Amino acid sequence: TYVVTDNCIGCKYTDCVEVCPVDCFYEGENMLVIHPDECIDCGVCEPECPADAIRPDTDADMDRWVTFNARYAELWPVI
Ligand code: SF4
Repeated sequence: TYVVTDNCIGCKYTDCVEVCPVDCFYEGENMLVIHPDECIDCGVCEPECPADAIRPDTDADMDRWVTFNARYAELWPVI
């Protein structure tokens, strides 16, 4: 799955949302997150982000963001 990381904070460009085939982005006050159970791992969103905020969860040191995306995708509304 892919995750949104701290570069999204304060940006919230929605280029990723426009291209996601399964609408799995959720919106908080300051950033977006990806629902890990809904993401189909297509990778289309990663190069679209102007803030370079989207990463595969297999990247190094992603544990914190994997947990963050999973938690807040359950709490925030879909965008
Ligand atoms: Fe959506 Fe694909 Fe990005 Fe997952 S990897 S959030 S399915 S565009």
